[in-house]
Amino acid sequence: MKHILVTGGAGFIGSNFIHYMIQHHPEYRITNLDKLTYAGNLENLRDIEAHPTYTFVQGDICDAALVEKLMQPADAVVHFAAETHVDRSIMDAGSFITTDVYGTFVLLEAARKYPIERFIQISTDEVYGTAMSPEGVSRPSLETDALMPLSPYAASKSGADRLAFSYWATHKLPVIITRCSNNYGPYQYPEKLIPLFVTNALDNIPMPVYGDGQNTRDWIYVEEHCAAVDLLLHSSGYDGEIFNIGANREYSVLQISDLILDILGKPKSLIRFVQDRPGHVPRHAVDTAKLRRCFNWSASVDFHAMLEKTVQWYREHETWWRRIKEQDAGYKQYYQQQYQ
Ligand code: NAD
Repeated sequence: MKHILVTGGAGFIGSNFIHYMIQHHPEYRITNLDKLTYAGNLENLRDIEAHPTYTFVQGDICDAALVEKLMQPADAVVHFAAETHVDRSIMDAGSFITTDVYGTFVLLEAARKYPIERFIQISTDEVYGTAMSPEGVSRPSLETDALMPLSPYAASKSGADRLAFSYWATHKLPVIITRCSNNYGPYQYPEKLIPLFVTNALDNIPMPVYGDGQNTRDWIYVEEHCAAVDLLLHSSGYDGEIFNIGANREYSVLQISDLILDILGKPKSLIRFVQDRPGHVPRHAVDTAKLRRCFNWSASVDFHAMLEKTVQWYREHETWWRRIKEQDAGYKQYYQQQYQ
């Protein structure tokens, strides 16, 4: 039996990944180590909390003793845990450095001590900064491009990304680094763009669009990201490699806003332009040819269909997001500071 240590499994992608693994590998044991920060939510895992192969451990990836204890029986690690919100990293970067960089170091050290078959470092396309060639021509980022992170979040993830690589280069730890584009789907904390816009629009509250709304991102449905991670988790022969993961579907913030309003049948007057984010990256996009070449895998679901499905999920799970938006003091304080 395989035993996977998942970090950050109570967050958005981590909880989708655990659902994915239980569905696709019901014989695997999954241990979920999560600190339950404001972004971690056990509601995301309510339906599987009593599943016989699943164990939840509340704890910090910076806690070396705990991490070592959990690493011992594990065959592989999928490391999602991080502080993840760009805007919060602009307000206060300290926790990003601690969790994203130091926490990754603690995990890598434990994995060195108690050998594992695979360590998946979930990095991000944010590490590239603006998607462009070395000559400055706009194009999707390649795995070989320089890392030019523009936010403290992206810089802390770059530190973790390179640290993970160094543990392969130095200690031959079987690391694979993934750099995925923007995810959307169920269980995403409603400070992030799509759930924020959907839930605001449902309440007829303005959708805050930074600058002129022309910044573009590639959008991948979270389940497709999970499928790609699963593929890499089971790969052999790619130690030390980096893989971009994306859907090759780029949309500007304004296009996303329009689509959401159309799906919900709400007026365009709900769009409210607000002061641009400092260091805002105009374009994130990743070239996914390497993943296609090595594994014959590419994202395939239809963006519009999945966006509609996602909007529908938030419609049907109002209690889930309303509790966060109305009862979570951290959310309210952040929202007021950011947009009022
Ligand atoms: P999230 O903010 O929804 O979840 C993060 C989870 O990590 C939470 O459950 C939180 O409680 C946990 N956590 C935070 N600090 C911790 C600590 N010190 N110890 C243990 N647990 C801790 O994030 P997400 O959007 O699900 O992103 C998951 C990973 O994927 C991150 O590493 C992120 O950089 C990466 N990523 C995200 C996206 C995206 O679009 N969301 C895209 C590419 C890569």
